[in-house]
Amino acid sequence: MSQRVAVVTGAARGIGAAIAVRLAADGLAVAVLDLEESACATTVGRITDAGGRALAVGADVSDAAAVNAAVERVASELGPPVVLVNNAGVIRDNLLFKMTDDDWETVMAVHLRGAFLMSRACQKYMVEQRWGRIVNISSTSALGNRGQANYSTAKAGLQGLAKTLAIELGPFGVTANAVAPGFIETDMTKALSQQQTDALMAQIPLGRLGRPEDIAHAVAYLASPQAGYVTGVELHVNGGMYMN
Ligand code: NAD
Repeated sequence: MSQRVAVVTGAARGIGAAIAVRLAADGLAVAVLDLEESACATTVGRITDAGGRALAVGADVSDAAAVNAAVERVASELGPPVVLVNNAGVIRDNLLFKMTDDDWETVMAVHLRGAFLMSRACQKYMVEQRWGRIVNISSTSALGNRGQANYSTAKAGLQGLAKTLAIELGPFGVTANAVAPGFIETDMTKALSQQQTDALMAQIPLGRLGRPEDIAHAVAYLASPQAGYVTGVELHVNGGMYMN
């Protein structure tokens, strides 16, 4: 196979950006996908400055037409996407009695419909190539987390999706796994108060918050040829912090 092509969703910043940069360092051409194409420029620049190949792609992962067009564009401009990292995500935290319909629908749409649409669009190329890797970014919150009924449900769903894709696509040489980050320092977690951060820190045996690169290394392994016999698993990358 010529240079492998990866698509990383939500890769304009945070964990997705770190994953895109790491996969490029491993020799893959990377489609950096996020809501706005212009927002992907920084990640693309980091990759191309280091001598890699990258393409900025604007698409809302919860929009089927946008997803199909984006994946077709990746295939024609970079090559058939054989690695997919479903990383795009949002939070709309609230205790159940205050959670609005929109809080619920938005989180389900981005995490679950997004991963479903992206996986369906990319699997065609993976099956054709008889080789593929799908990695869903789940969360420790899949184990249950106060104030996150929507997010916990979506993140547990991403684990179920990975297990089912592992069964359906395994015969075609495609693996599907989930990585479940703990508390990682990004824009998503910036909103936490010092008190909340201190409380979390007390639960982390390794004594530090996670970095986006901690997640990127785990994803890089699952996306590699060497992980070809690993499928349907959840890899927890959380410093030892398991909720519950
Ligand atoms: P972030 O908010 O910094 O980045 C998320 C990215 O996703 C943004 O660039 C955003 O524009 C993009 N995005 C949102 N909706 C989108 C859509 N509909 N279509 C395309 N792109 C969209 O978040 P992060 O902390 O880097 O999180 C990345 C992933 O890791 C998310 O799935 C998140 O749930 C998960 N996660 C994060 C943590 C953490 O502690 N930060 C922990 C566990 C899991």
